[in-house]
Amino acid sequence: MKPNKPCKIEIMAVGSEMLSPYFQDSNSLYITKRLNELGLDVSFKTIVGDNWEDLLICIRQSLSRADILFAIGGLGPTQDDITREAFASVLKKKLLYHDEILEKIRERFKQRRLAMPVINKKQAYIIEGSEILDNACGTAPGLWLEHNKKTIVLLPGPPNELMPMFETHVWPRLQNFHRRYSEKKIIKITGLTESKIESILSDIYPNDSSIKLTTLARPGQIEIHILSYSDSSQAHAHKKAIFIEKRILDRLKDNVFSISNEELEQVVGKLLMTNKETLAVAESCTGGYLGHRLTNVPGSSNYFIQGVIAYSNEAKIKLLGVSPQIIDKYGAVSAQVAEAMAKGIRRTANTNYGLSITGIAGPTGRTPKKPVGLVYTALSWANGSTVKENRFLGDRKSIKFQSSQETLDMLRRFLLREKENTSNIRNE
Ligand code: ATP
Repeated sequence: MKPNKPCKIEIMAVGSEMLSPYFQDSNSLYITKRLNELGLDVSFKTIVGDNWEDLLICIRQSLSRADILFAIGGLGPTQDDITREAFASVLKKKLLYHDEILEKIRERFKQRRLAMPVINKKQAYIIEGSEILDNACGTAPGLWLEHNKKTIVLLPGPPNELMPMFETHVWPRLQNFHRRYSEKKIIKITGLTESKIESILSDIYPNDSSIKLTTLARPGQIEIHILSYSDSSQAHAHKKAIFIEKRILDRLKDNVFSISNEELEQVVGKLLMTNKETLAVAESCTGGYLGHRLTNVPGSSNYFIQGVIAYSNEAKIKLLGVSPQIIDKYGAVSAQVAEAMAKGIRRTANTNYGLSITGIAGPTGRTPKKPVGLVYTALSWANGSTVKENRFLGDRKSIKFQSSQETLDMLRRFLLREKENTSNIRNE
């Protein structure tokens, strides 16, 4: 196919395991990402089981609409690996035996001091007219085939085999299909709902098919992915992406926590590092999840000092110095207890900041006045403290995530305000 002609690209993942609830087709995400980087879009994705009839239907359908078809998996030696045979059947092509492929496979087994099973002989057959894509990490070679102005690429299923094969043999060949330059930007937001963001941005969404905006939303975090294309140059694609990114940032302001694909805990960590300040956390319903997120960041020992999981009332009293009277009067899930926990952990750990979380993650534990998802988050610092009452929706895991996200965001916003105040004082 000639470059500059718009082409329809399709990915077909072959394997019954991907039709079960236990296994996901991650290879197509990887291929799509790499294609997008070349300015190429994927039009269709299909998942089909290891069934001869179903596979033939899918191949015929895909070839009726695609210019480039990637088929993943089913190139192995076992009986259910039928991709090669199915393509040969649809294309009405022979399967030809290649002794040198078998020698390579035999050599791999030899290196492991194993005899090659007879069934592997099947992998030495290639579709007539196809080019062999060497598999440096496994036995199944890939195949590249041009047929009736269409390109068909067969790749092995295991990601550790597919990725190096794609990079070494497919990527260089795809340069011929390079249509457009592309630039990707990711804006990460917290503290706003998807619909709120939509209402803030609706009038600035570009009416231009060379800029794509995709919103990925989950409770507590929203991402806007900008993908801009240009026919003329990388600089032009970059300029267009930056232009729309700036417009979005101007509207969303400090609700944006990253434009460099960082997690919130990384952003907070960086701010603390810059200030040379320290943090400790006291957690009830999140059971250590906040501490886990903070310590996922390499170098977090520079600012993260201590985490306490105070699940029971006794633990809150004993480990954080929360007064039993406050718990009696307001309950363990209350603004007063959250505040006392944040102050307590800051005092105990002797840090600049203390964060705390107490709430009802559900599905049990609710009372008429305190529903599932009621979570109090608090921040304590040298001269004060602040508490927030949150009403989260979702299951236990999601409420734990949202609670940790809210506390990190409380600290992030506080540190940003501090930074602003300090620079204002300096400017006066
Ligand atoms: P092999 O020679 O290893 O059998 P193959 O090409 O026949 O290679 P499959 O048997 O289809 O590959 O799949 C082998 C394994 O690769 C699967 O069990 C699964 O773990 C992984 N795999 C297959 N397809 C995908 C996919 N689309 N995304 C992610 N992993 C996959």
